[in-house]
Amino acid sequence: MSSDRHVVVVGAGPGGLAAAARLRDRGGGRVAVTLIAPGLRATFLGGTLDVALGDQEPTAFSAPVDMAGVRCIDAAVSAVAPDGVALGDDRIAADAVIAAPGLVVDANSMPSWSRVVAAWDPYGARRLRERALGLRAGRVLVAITAVPYRCPPAPLALAVGLAGRHLEARHAVRVTVATPEAVPLAGVGGEAPAFVSDACAAAGVTLERGFVPDLQASADGVLRATDGREIPYDGAFLVPAHRRAACLEGLPGTGPLVAVGERGSVDGSPLYVVGDAAGTGLPRAAGFASGAAVAAADGALESLGIAPAPPPPALEASCFMFHHGRAISRIGVRYTGDGPSVRIDGPSRDLWPARTGELRRFLEAAGAPGSGVTAAG
Ligand SMILES: Cc1cc2nc3c(=O)[nH]c(=O)nc-3n(C[C@H](O)[C@H](O)[C@H](O)COP(=O)(O)OP(=O)(O)OC[C@H]3O[C@@H](n4cnc5c(N)ncnc54)[C@H](O)[C@@H]3O)c2cc1C
Repeated sequence: MSSDRHVVVVGAGPGGLAAAARLRDRGGGRVAVTLIAPGLRATFLGGTLDVALGDQEPTAFSAPVDMAGVRCIDAAVSAVAPDGVALGDDRIAADAVIAAPGLVVDANSMPSWSRVVAAWDPYGARRLRERALGLRAGRVLVAITAVPYRCPPAPLALAVGLAGRHLEARHAVRVTVATPEAVPLAGVGGEAPAFVSDACAAAGVTLERGFVPDLQASADGVLRATDGREIPYDGAFLVPAHRRAACLEGLPGTGPLVAVGERGSVDGSPLYVVGDAAGTGLPRAAGFASGAAVAAADGALESLGIAPAPPPPALEASCFMFHHGRAISRIGVRYTGDGPSVRIDGPSRDLWPARTGELRRFLEAAGAPGSGVTAAG
């Protein structure tokens, strides 16, 4: 590498891809950028819902990573530090590191019951669809087993979507969604909590709030809560607990999230943690991951003396609900210096291009030329 400086980016999700592109685009040729991700594949996790509802296959949401102007390495980083990363016994030195490895979905900690699918990604969703959409009658449960989890509205959106599909097929299937939160989406604020609760009610979905699962006391066919409540089911989709990526072990912060300061910096060093792994107080959403990654990349470039950092961008994210009749709605959240604002659009079939556009931009950021994904609506 002939560049003056070297920055390593860990992960090829929205955070890692945005960081790598920003470093390349603003580095003026003075920064060599290396992006490391296992398998060098980028996966759009929001596609979990489309797969679960039978609209798409998992492969529609995944693309190889091949970014022009970025050295891409197929590997799993075992540890990160301000001056480089470890790949097992090997080490790659760097002047700054931006880590966006997301969260690990701890499916192995879940009981392997025949009526349960425990996953939170497009490939796991394929198994759910066989289990939940195959029923002609009975009870389907979507349950969040622990917080934090990725994308606050998504489990409720899944429950509402499943209820709609069974209604269209004239199945006698009842859907319940259970969350440990006293008020779903309280952390998002604004009209979001009322909107998702109303969407559940309109779809005939039973919403169990403050339901903290006790997996030890549960069995295949009935989920029990620590307060003694029980939800019987014929098919269940459990969102497993999320834990910290192994490469971030030892960094400050309790639980799955790493404590970070300005622009995602860990202890003021040139090690930045962004995206779902960062303890920022923001919900786990793609737009927040990519916005924080841009701010971190700008911070790294400034600390390396390459370019002054502009003010961090406003952080924006959109999550979607799936309604009866193939309509979708959008919960948009924007954080500026003045605090959060929530905007709700829909339900409408006209919103499909907006959602498909998010997927296309993600796949194109990974380097996939013109994605051929079509809207499900
Ligand atoms: C079901 C579901 C629905 C969602 N819907 C929406 C939505 O509608 N809107 C929205 O904004 N957000 C949504 N999200 C949330 C969004 O997907 C995440 O917030 C976002 O992907 C986080 O980005 P990230 O870059 O931090 O991590 P990730 O997207 O998880 O990417 C992490 C990357 O790091 C790599 N990696 C992991 N460990 C290592 C390692 N040791 N070494 C190297 N690489 C590593 C992984 O392979 C991956 O490439 C949804 C999430 C889920 C699960």
